[in-house]
Amino acid sequence: MIEELQRKEAALKQQIVDVTNELFAADVITASGGNISARLEGTDIVWITPTRMFKGSLSTDDLIRVDLDGNMLEGKTRPSVEAPMHTGIMRAREDVLAVVHSHAPYATAMALCGVCVPPICFDGFLVSKLPVVPFAMSGEELAQAVLDNIGDWPGAFLQNHGMLAVGKTLRSAANLTLTVEHIGKILTIARTLGEDSELKTLPPDLVAGLEAMGAQFAQLLV
Ligand SMILES: [Zn+2]
Repeated sequence: MIEELQRKEAALKQQIVDVTNELFAADVITASGGNISARLEGTDIVWITPTRMFKGSLSTDDLIRVDLDGNMLEGKTRPSVEAPMHTGIMRAREDVLAVVHSHAPYATAMALCGVCVPPICFDGFLVSKLPVVPFAMSGEELAQAVLDNIGDWPGAFLQNHGMLAVGKTLRSAANLTLTVEHIGKILTIARTLGEDSELKTLPPDLVAGLEAMGAQFAQLLV
């Protein structure tokens, strides 16, 4: 039983490293910006990326174990300063076992400019519904601001900062991160090509049906 748990924990740590590398290669995690965590299902074991380390070449030895209050339990350096945001949402929502905080450029720019994403496709509709968390200082203040705004949604824009995606798995949180960034690129290209032309959107009755589903709609996509 203990060996099985250790095997799962080792796999989870490797997955954190793999997803960090993937999102660094995708330019949504930067050299020092962004952090990723995951909780081993059925336990209070949480591993998170370290603070102040280059995010492009982490290994599992660099990860930090924290408790559900974000306090360090194990590791060589220090946990991300955003550990309270990660563990705060894990405490608040049973459906969240993985958290990806990125500094994705398109997502960050959309929140900076208050860009209203029209329902240009299913993914676009989801992105249009994600809440914007007003600016808050990193750490406990940002953690509280996220809890005050994210509701049941699988992610949020962090104004003047970046993006947050949460889910049952690191794969789903990473997928949402990449999806938001992709929609940001489409919107930027469409606005550049079309300038003043009105964007074509999904049919209104379809949008109304999706609206009625609320955050449950997100489960279909992430
Ligand atoms: Zn950040």
